Amino acid sequence: MDHLGKHAIVLGAGMAGLAHAVPLAEHFDRVTLVERDSLPARAETRRGVPQGQHIHLLVPGGLTRLEELLPGVVDDLSGHGAELIGSPEWRFHMGGGRLALRGSDFHITGATHPLIEDVVRARVLALAGVEVLDGWTARELLTTDDRCRVTGVRLRSEAAPAEERTLEVDLVVDTTGRGSRSPRWLADLGYPPPAEERLKVDVHYTTRLFRRSPGDLGGSRNVLVDVPHDGRRGGVALAVEEGRWLVTLIGMLGERPPADLTGFTDYAAGLWNGDVHEVISGGAPTGEAVRAAFPSFSRHRYDRLRRLPERYLVAGDAVCSFDPRFGQGMTVAIIEALELRRVLGAHSLDHIGPRVLSAARWAVQDAWDLAAGGDLTHPEVEGPRPPSWRLTTAYLQRLLPVAHHDPVVATALIRVIGMLDRPQRLMRPQVLRRVLGGSRLNGATAAQRRPASETVRPSTS
Ligand SMILES: Cc1cc2nc3c(=O)[nH]c(=O)nc-3n(C[C@H](O)[C@H](O)[C@H](O)COP(=O)(O)OP(=O)(O)OC[C@H]3O[C@@H](n4cnc5c(N)ncnc54)[C@H](O)[C@@H]3O)c2cc1C
Repeated sequence: MDHLGKHAIVLGAGMAGLAHAVPLAEHFDRVTLVERDSLPARAETRRGVPQGQHIHLLVPGGLTRLEELLPGVVDDLSGHGAELIGSPEWRFHMGGGRLALRGSDFHITGATHPLIEDVVRARVLALAGVEVLDGWTARELLTTDDRCRVTGVRLRSEAAPAEERTLEVDLVVDTTGRGSRSPRWLADLGYPPPAEERLKVDVHYTTRLFRRSPGDLGGSRNVLVDVPHDGRRGGVALAVEEGRWLVTLIGMLGERPPADLTGFTDYAAGLWNGDVHEVISGGAPTGEAVRAAFPSFSRHRYDRLRRLPERYLVAGDAVCSFDPRFGQGMTVAIIEALELRRVLGAHSLDHIGPRVLSAARWAVQDAWDLAAGGDLTHPEVEGPRPPSWRLTTAYLQRLLPVAHHDPVVATALIRVIGMLDRPQRLMRPQVLRRVLGGSRLNGATAAQRRPASETVRPSTS
């Protein structure tokens, strides 16, 4: 590997930061991950990643790419108790029916976010030259006098009494998540901050863990009941380490799944498909419910900036946070890290930020289109609905009923949702023919199948 510099810094040691440290370690003598939290010695939830308490899975395209980034990591994950769940064990209820996933074989992770992060962190910190500086917050960028090039970061310790220190480096990567200060840092340096696209969806998650028995749901280990476009409620149940089900109930547009067990169970019983409720009724709960609200998701258009300082890159949720119902964030961060690897392998550090942002744009765009496109099918969600969106939505509404009985179409759809294929693959002749010819075979709609208990109104619980 070409040697590109002495020292690189990654700000934030979440999944995006960990993934980006891997290609950097291939080209720099030293890579320092700066993390505000004190990192736990074992897999446990931490303050800086509150979303880690809720359902988190690596979709098939994320799992295969994580293995490409860190060979052997999938074995490490299963060695530490993560379930690897093949598509024959999924029950995906979307668009008013169950996807016919017969004959397909893709895997996702059945693990909590802390376990995934813990295993990946151990692998990354074992790489030569990689170290972590935890308990330190990045406060400010350091630059050359003409502000054209980033030269380091000013840090402050989280422990009292607070100390300050600076790190002078060859490259800074900001992966500090959705609260990233990069827009402000850039503005302070006289650069135009990135434009922001924001989608208000007002999503609420309530999550509980239950004990799992091998016979639950006839051996299925992953259930999704999607939020119908004319409803507000959905749910997911995922088999995770230590013989547990992790169940997340979802509410959109202000709907809040209750935390108390009776309310939680009743909410699941009101979903348009009964599988999540079956999981809950069959298992004893372990621990208390956790709740979280995600008012909006946003995309910062760093890829459109005409000026960005040299030796500076922004990635992960700091660039784009997606509606979590689509489970894409970790996968996009891993793709960005792989694109960074390609760019570092082919170029010097010149224009590293714009090069990587442009190379990874496709992944952010695909994931954003999928998630935002789905959100916009709810008439209450505000946002642009151009003709291209109307066309795609109409096509998907025609495709979904076919995917309930045609494994070829179901597999094509799941490969796109799982980020194994680009969305345009749904338009290839083999799928198109079946969609156009097959929709007459299945007429049931979500509205017809949803029980009366799910009425479209905000919950007060
Ligand atoms: C409810 C929910 C469910 C989700 N489910 C899925 C899923 O199923 N599948 C999936 O792929 N994705 C999912 N995601 C998205 C996923 O969590 C993220 O996209 C992914 O983990 C990448 O996050 P990140 O590393 O960019 O940011 P984060 O996870 O937010 O990490 C940022 C890190 O930076 C640290 N930090 C912040 N500021 C500073 C600072 N100034 N200095 C130093 N450190 C700092 C924080 O402590 C944290 O450790 C979900 C998200 C949510 C909200």
